[in-house]
Amino acid sequence: MIEWSDEDVMIRDAVRTWVDEKVRPRMDALDAGDLPPYDLIRDLFRTFGMDEMARSSFEARLAKEERAASADGDGRDGAGDGDGAASGGGGNASLNILPIVELCKVSPGLVTAMGVSLGLAAGTIMKRGSAEQKRRWGLDLLTMDKVGAWAITEPNSGSDAFGGMQATARRDGDGYVLNGSKTFITNGPYADTIVFYCKLDDGRDPRDREILTFVLDRGMPGLEQSKPLRKMGLHSSPTGELFLSDVRAGEDRLLTGGGTSAQSGRESAKANFVTERAGVAAMALGVIEECLRLSVDYARKRELWGKPIGDFQLIQLKLAKMEVARLNVQNLVFRHVEMQRKGRTPTLAEASAMKLYAAQAAAEVTQEAVQLFGGNGYMSEYRVEQLARDAKSFQIYAGTDEIQVTHIARDLLSR
Ligand SMILES: Cc1cc2nc3c(=O)[nH]c(=O)nc-3n(C[C@H](O)[C@H](O)[C@H](O)COP(=O)(O)OP(=O)(O)OC[C@H]3O[C@@H](n4cnc5c(N)ncnc54)[C@H](O)[C@@H]3O)c2cc1C
Repeated sequence: MIEWSDEDVMIRDAVRTWVDEKVRPRMDALDAGDLPPYDLIRDLFRTFGMDEMARSSFEARLAKEERAASADGDGRDGAGDGDGAASGGGGNASLNILPIVELCKVSPGLVTAMGVSLGLAAGTIMKRGSAEQKRRWGLDLLTMDKVGAWAITEPNSGSDAFGGMQATARRDGDGYVLNGSKTFITNGPYADTIVFYCKLDDGRDPRDREILTFVLDRGMPGLEQSKPLRKMGLHSSPTGELFLSDVRAGEDRLLTGGGTSAQSGRESAKANFVTERAGVAAMALGVIEECLRLSVDYARKRELWGKPIGDFQLIQLKLAKMEVARLNVQNLVFRHVEMQRKGRTPTLAEASAMKLYAAQAAAEVTQEAVQLFGGNGYMSEYRVEQLARDAKSFQIYAGTDEIQVTHIARDLLSR
């Protein structure tokens, strides 16, 4: 694949028009954190029929799984055949990726909020849940009728997410009692449905304990969702804390699909890392394309010493480096689309390499765009400063740059 197809370009243009009409005029409110993104995301879903598509593919998938389950007498998830809309996988890969690219030109936060709800919260339930759990929570998340959060990070365990995890589940009668706190949780303040990771408190050394994954509902006794945290950028994606104090959860809330081994919670989270990291490359592409477009336009129009700044070689160098970054990140995204079409999932090392490169490229391009715009670059009106603040998050969430390096190197050294 060397370019988007004609059909892709039609989809891209339709999404672009929607973004121009619906998102750009609301960017100030979104970037001030005054407008939660969810009604806009629902509008996107209705406009492009994504809610109906999610509904029908959900029913088809459930029917297939239920047939397979009755054939082998097992009610669990074994027949899952990919992540569908939730992860950007499945049939039309470009249909899943192009909206991410277009939306990120204007609001990477909107994509973060949407991606966590669909890809991580719904994605985990659809991969690890029973048919009943998928019907109870999955469908409403896939249509964006409800908002999901995916809670793994804690104040004392970010990069060392499993090792340092302190949230606990203690057996109590036929259910569990959950305690602990989570931080930096995307959609945390508004989530209706929360996928919550914790350790089974069974007296073993905390580092060896089994990781359990529960689904919680807003309003459960003992569950507190904080207000949005103040942060550097990505203001259109509300981020918050969760506090659990003796929250009672029955077996029906425990995701055990794919087996009940000690690794199942960890493996489910690791599978999400791959989805998330590949998605960040598409987000970075949107940011880079927009910065390049704005920068070329500004370099043509801004005149100093009687000529456009685009005539100065140091400005040309910035534009050239942005184009190199755009081509490289686009190639990574195209490769990912091709892999999805062939039904191939990237390895953790491949997804990490993609994310590391794309996140750094987006961060560098946005900083250079601010520099190219001079004082105007530092002002909100010209938008590149918002993209610079937003793009910094790519180097931190879904695993920091440093963690991507360790995952890539570990894989190379283990061959
Ligand atoms: C906007 C935003 C949204 C987020 N959304 C979610 C969410 O929805 N759900 C969720 O669970 N989490 C979420 N996170 C949390 C995110 O995944 C963590 O912030 C991230 O994994 C880093 O963890 P930490 O913040 O604890 O940093 P730390 O782990 O404390 O890292 C501190 C520094 O040490 C470095 N470091 C750590 N380990 C090593 C090592 N082995 N070698 C070298 N350097 C190392 C790190 O790279 C970093 O520079 C979000 C974060 C942000 C910023």
